Amino acid sequence: MADTDIVCISPIDGRELVRRPIMSEAAIAAAVSAAREAQRSWRHVPLAERSAAVLAMLDALVAMNQEVVPELAQQMGRPVRYGGEFRGVEERARYMVKIAEDSLRTIPADDERAGFRRMIKREPVGLVLVIAPWNYPYLTAINTIAPALMAGNAVLLKHASQTVLAGERFQMAAEHAGLPRGLFQNLHLSHDQTSQILQQGLVDHCNFTGSVSGGRSIERAAAGSFTSLGLELGGKDPAYVREDANLDHAVENLVDGAFFNSGQCCCGIERIYVHEKHYDRFVEGAVDLVNKYVLGNPLDEATTLGPMAHRRFADLVRHQNAEAVAKGAKAHIDAGRFAADAGNSAYLAPQVLTGVDHSMSVMREESFGPTVGIMKVRGDEEAIHLMNDSPYGLSAAIWTSDVEAAEAIGNKLETGTVFMNRCDYLDPALAWTGVKDTGRGASLSRLAYESLTRPKSFHLRHI
Ligand code: NAP
Repeated sequence: MADTDIVCISPIDGRELVRRPIMSEAAIAAAVSAAREAQRSWRHVPLAERSAAVLAMLDALVAMNQEVVPELAQQMGRPVRYGGEFRGVEERARYMVKIAEDSLRTIPADDERAGFRRMIKREPVGLVLVIAPWNYPYLTAINTIAPALMAGNAVLLKHASQTVLAGERFQMAAEHAGLPRGLFQNLHLSHDQTSQILQQGLVDHCNFTGSVSGGRSIERAAAGSFTSLGLELGGKDPAYVREDANLDHAVENLVDGAFFNSGQCCCGIERIYVHEKHYDRFVEGAVDLVNKYVLGNPLDEATTLGPMAHRRFADLVRHQNAEAVAKGAKAHIDAGRFAADAGNSAYLAPQVLTGVDHSMSVMREESFGPTVGIMKVRGDEEAIHLMNDSPYGLSAAIWTSDVEAAEAIGNKLETGTVFMNRCDYLDPALAWTGVKDTGRGASLSRLAYESLTRPKSFHLRHI
């Protein structure tokens, strides 16, 4: 990344779309100080007023949808036909607002003692830094912005360079909603400046959503500062199509789960294990559906598969596919059918691979692109073993008609979320979390409020 400028190269044509200078050190110091100042009053604002302000910010954001949809296509390549991501943003933000009162309620001591008042109150942590990725630039950021503000914190946002305009949209929405000056601020920061903020302990909590390597850098930067971290990192999410699965549903849902957003979903399906009974028909069905994608300019209504967000991401997937084929995998999709993929840009034909195994990077490392490997399994034990054979653990999906079996298999999976007969979805009522290299902490659900507040105990004795 440039030292002094933040640059977004559009994946549509490889041209520069946006350039912003990074902030000066003085501007960063002023932003932190304004946020602290605003938070001192905000934490005492009644919850009903905080709710109204957060919902007004949400409404202001949603009102921009018409401009945001093509802007997203230009910044990161998602086709306009999908209509952006504000439906999910609203679902999550409204849910987090709705549960705030209950989640932030004072906890009385379990055992009452005569002559004492004993309780645990929840105080806001203070200043929260949100570091967001480009793949779902509004959805990932709102997960923390909404509950952090509801809990009485101030928020600083450092958005991804690829979606720098999304950060600016959040800022516009905050201003339009009349949030107190400084309470929410979008900052244009280099990596180094972001690290400095953490190293110097200028914020109290940081939620980082992004790659594993980015997460490691953030953890190193925060070391010794006692800043708490929520880390939502990469994944290699598996699916298992069981013997008793509804095959048609599994094929359709899993192809969508693997290829939507050109596979650039944190919980997108990257590996599929199919019971031998269904294997041939599953592969045939998946290949058939994948061949129907229309790869092209995301601004065209007919396009169902846009370019990846950057050429370097497409090159990584090209490399993984080629390595798998060199090791004996079969590539079922003829890239020649997808004219937009000339082999040298962000436009990448989708791919379905069989004959894969776990020695191949396409089955081990995050692809974050429009490719999926499919393996045949004989039953639950083999599927569980393969699903767990990964350094990541965000979500795992099981296709079956047996809820008890899904829960029993789920108990044995090393993962943050277990799905049955669905995938690639975040339920705001459940904790979004990961295991292994996928991260630490939890966002969404009432548990999100745990990391955005600190407990304060009161032990008061009458005499
Ligand atoms: P990324 O390169 O790690 O960047 C994420 C954010 O962190 C961006 O704002 C980036 O800024 C910033 N950043 C990266 N390294 C940094 C450093 N050393 N110091 C300070 N800031 C740093 O990830 P990405 O490519 O944007 O996003 C894709 C990744 O996110 C995938 O691995 C995906 O699985 C993961 N993800 C996970 C979840 C989840 O819930 N677990 C959700 C969505 C995405 P710049 O853009 O300016 O570099």
